[in-house]
Amino acid sequence: MYLDYAAATPLSEEALRAMLPYYTDQFYNPSAPYLPAKQVRDAYEDAKNRLAHCIGAKGIDLVITSGATEANNLAFSAVDFLNLPDAKVLVLETEHISVLGLAKKYPHELAKVDKNGVVNLKDLAEKLDGKTVFISIAVANNETGTLQPMNEIAELVKREKQQRLKNGESRPLYFHSDASQALNLMSLNVARLGADLLTLNAAKVYGPKGVGALYVGRRVRLQPIAEGGGQENGLRSGTENVPGVMGFAAAAEQAAAHRAYHLKHYQKLAEVFRRTLTKRFQDALPGREIVFLGSEKHRLANFCPVSFPGLDAERLIYKLEQEGVYLSTGAACSANKGTKSHVLQAMGLPDEVISGSLRVSFGAQNTEEAVREAAARIALAAADEYRRMG
Ligand code: PLP
Repeated sequence: MYLDYAAATPLSEEALRAMLPYYTDQFYNPSAPYLPAKQVRDAYEDAKNRLAHCIGAKGIDLVITSGATEANNLAFSAVDFLNLPDAKVLVLETEHISVLGLAKKYPHELAKVDKNGVVNLKDLAEKLDGKTVFISIAVANNETGTLQPMNEIAELVKREKQQRLKNGESRPLYFHSDASQALNLMSLNVARLGADLLTLNAAKVYGPKGVGALYVGRRVRLQPIAEGGGQENGLRSGTENVPGVMGFAAAAEQAAAHRAYHLKHYQKLAEVFRRTLTKRFQDALPGREIVFLGSEKHRLANFCPVSFPGLDAERLIYKLEQEGVYLSTGAACSANKGTKSHVLQAMGLPDEVISGSLRVSFGAQNTEEAVREAAARIALAAADEYRRMG
C-alpha cells in the first residue's frame, strides 16, 4: 500500500514503451552526422515539442535537465546573468528546499503563507519592490499539495512589470514557478500563468526519474549550467537523454489525456481515506482528534496531509512500514533528516501537530479498497502509539 506518490510515481507503460527503442536499436547520438542519428534527433525534437505543447509552449523554449532541482538551479541563473549588485529575489516561505536554498544565495525575502499554506497576497505585494528581479512560487506545494492563486500572483507581477515600463526602468522581473507536482493533475499554460520560467519534473508524472525541463521565456537570459557541446540552446551541454525525454513526453501526454478521470478518482480516494481514518481512529481511541491539514479547496486532489497531534510521526511511519503501508512525514528529501517541516511551520501549526504529521499522496495504482485498508491500518497503528505513550 503505497501512499507516497508525491515522492515518486512508477513509470507508466506508455512511457516505458516510448523509451525502450532509444536504449537499444535507436541508441545513436542525436548530434552524429549519419541518417539513423538524424532520425533520433528528429524524434527527440518531436518529443520536446509534444512535451512543450502540454504547457502551451514550443520545444525550442524548453531546456531538458536532470530533474527539477537542476531546472530550478538553471532558472535562478537568470539572477546571475543580470549581475545587479542590489538585485533581490522573492520566494514563498514554503517553497521546495532547492528553491529556498537558491534564494539564500542572493539578497532575498520570503513571502508569507496563511494557515492553509496559501500565499498572503498583501505580504507578497509589499515585498515585491523596485529591487526585485526574480519571484519563485510553486504552483503546488510538495508536502501539502497546497495550490497557489496563480492568476492573482501573475496579475501582481504583470502590474509591477507595466509600472517599470511606464517609469522607463530597465530592471527586469522574472516570474518562475516550480510545477513539479502540478503537471500531473493540472492543465498548465505558460501564457496563462504569466510565467517566464517553469520547472517540470518527469518523475512526478509517471515518467522516468532524473529527467526534468525548464521552460524559458524568449526574453529571459540564463547562464549555462554546463559548458561543452552546446546542446539545449547552449544552456545545458552534454549528450541528450533521448530515452528520458521520449518517456517524459509520453507520460505528460498520458497525464493530460486522463486528467479528468484521475481528478475524480483521487477526490473519491481522499474522501474514502478521510472517512475511514476518522471512523476507525474514533472507534479505536474515542475522544482523540485527528487533524487534517490545510484546505481541500486549495489543494491538489491527490494529497491528504494529516496529523496525529503529539505522536512521533517518524515512529509511526516505521511501524506502518512493517504493516505494508508506505508513506512519509514530509518531502522525501528532507524526511530522513529529522528536521521539522518548514512548510508546516510556515502555516503556523503547533509543534505537536507538526511532529505527528503524515504526507499522504495517492496515485494511479491506488484502489478504493486498498486506501480503505491503509487508512484502517494507519488508524490502528496511531491508536497503538497513543496507548504506548499512556
Ligand atoms: N521541486 C518540487 C516541487 C518537488 O516536488 C521535487 C521532488 O521532490 C523537486 C523539486 C526535486 O526534484 P528532483 O529530485 O527531480 O530534482
